[in-house]
Amino acid sequence: MTTPWSDLRCIACARRYPATEVRYRCDCGDLLEVRHDLNRLRAESPDLRRRFDERRSIQTGPHASGVWRYHELVLPDLPIDSVVTCGEGNTPLYASAALSAAFDTADLALKHEGENPTLSFKDRGMTSGVSWAQHLGVSHVACASTGDTSAAMAAYAAHARGLEAVVFLPHEKVSPEQLAQPIVYGARTLALDTDFDGCMRLVQAVCERHPIYLLNSMNSFRLEGQKTIGLEVCQQRDWRAPDWFVIPVGNAGNVSALGKGMLEAHALGLIDRLPRIAGVQAKAADPLYRGFQGGFRERVRMDAGETLATAIRIGDPVSHDKAARIIQRFHGVVESVEEAELMDAKAAADRAGVAVCPNSGVALAGLRKLRAAGTIPADASVVVILTAHGMKFSQVDVAYHTGALAHCPPTHPNAPEPIAASIEAVCSTLGLG
Ligand SMILES: *Cc1c(COP(=O)(O)O)cnc(C)c1O
Ligand SMILES: [Zn+2]
Repeated sequence: MTTPWSDLRCIACARRYPATEVRYRCDCGDLLEVRHDLNRLRAESPDLRRRFDERRSIQTGPHASGVWRYHELVLPDLPIDSVVTCGEGNTPLYASAALSAAFDTADLALKHEGENPTLSFKDRGMTSGVSWAQHLGVSHVACASTGDTSAAMAAYAAHARGLEAVVFLPHEKVSPEQLAQPIVYGARTLALDTDFDGCMRLVQAVCERHPIYLLNSMNSFRLEGQKTIGLEVCQQRDWRAPDWFVIPVGNAGNVSALGKGMLEAHALGLIDRLPRIAGVQAKAADPLYRGFQGGFRERVRMDAGETLATAIRIGDPVSHDKAARIIQRFHGVVESVEEAELMDAKAAADRAGVAVCPNSGVALAGLRKLRAAGTIPADASVVVILTAHGMKFSQVDVAYHTGALAHCPPTHPNAPEPIAASIEAVCSTLGLG
C-alpha cells in the first residue's frame, strides 16, 4: 500500500486521524481539516501551474470540472476515475463599467457561483463530499440545509452509485425553487418545525447514532472541493490573487475553505501573494461580525432573526473557529448589513445584467460599506463571490420590484404593467403617441 497523501488534523491540538476514518471532530471536540502532504506534492509535481493550465482545454471527463482540474490539491488519494462530478465550476467572472460604477470599484469582478449545476457554490463541496462518501462505501448521506446544500447533496447522490440521501430542512424557510430540488432528485426530504440551527443539531445527533454519513460543511472533505472557487479565480486572473475577496458568511465553511485554498496555493508557489478577505453577514444573523468586533476573544452565538438572506440565516456557525482563524490570518474584516442595503446592492447588480441572490446581495452591500469607509481602497482589485443564482429566489425579486417589501422600498422599481391587449393601449403606455 502506498503512503496516503492526506490525513485529518485537528485545528486546535494538531492530533491526526486517518482520512478514511469517519469522524467530523477531534476527540478534544474541535474541528478537523484535511491536510495534504504539500512538500511531497511540490517535489513530485514542480509544474502544477502548467498542468492546471493545460487542463483548461479539456472538454470532457472529470479533469474538465472546475473542481477536479485541481485534483492533486483536492483529494489526491481518490482515483480521478471514481469521482462523482456534474461538470461543476468553470463559472464566469463578470466585470463591466456598469458594475464598477454601481460599486465605486474600478477593478471589480463578480465570481458567479450561481452558474453551477444546482445553481449554487455548494456543488463544488458536494462533488468532493459525495465522491468521498462513495469511496468510503457508505449507504446513506444526510445534511441540514438552508436550501442550497440539500439541493446539491440530492443531485450528487443521485449521480452516485447506491447512495440514499436524507435532507433536514427548516419547514417553510427555504424558497420554492430550493424545496423543489431535493424532491425531484429523489432525496427523503424532512421539513422540520425549527430553524436551520435546530436542523443542524438534529442531523448531527442522528448521524452519531446511526451509520449515516454527514455532509454538512463540518465534513472537512466538502471544504476541499469548495476551496477551488479561490483557485479558479486566481487561475482566471493569470495566477494573480485579487487584493480582496468579499464573501457572504452563514455557516462559515466557504470563507474557511477559500482561505485554506489560498494558503496552499501560496505554499505551492501557484500565487505569489495572499489576498485579504472580507466576510459579510446580514444584521439579523451576524454572530461572526459581533465576534470580530471583540477581536474574536469570545465566540458569539445568537438566535437568527428574520432576513431575506435566508441561506445565511444562521446564528451559530459550525465552522466559526476555522473562519475566525482565516479572517485573522488574512488581515481580514467582517461587516454586517441591513435588509434595505442588501436589496439595494442586489438590485444594482441585477440591473447590470447579473442575476444576484439576496445572500450575495449581502456581500455586495458589504463591499459598498467597506469602500465608503476606505477599508477597501478605490484602486484595489476586488472579487465578490456570488454564492447562488438569483432565480432561486424569484419570489423575493417580484416582491421587491412590486413594492411588496415594506422594509425595503425599491430605489428603481420595475413592476410589470398590466394593460389592455390592444395596439392603442401598448402605444399610449410606451408614449408612442
Ligand atoms: C450556503 C450559502 C451561503 C453561506 O455559505 P457558508 O459556507 O455557510 O458560510 C451563502 N450563500 C448561499 C446562497 C448559500 O447557499
Ligand atoms: Zn483536537
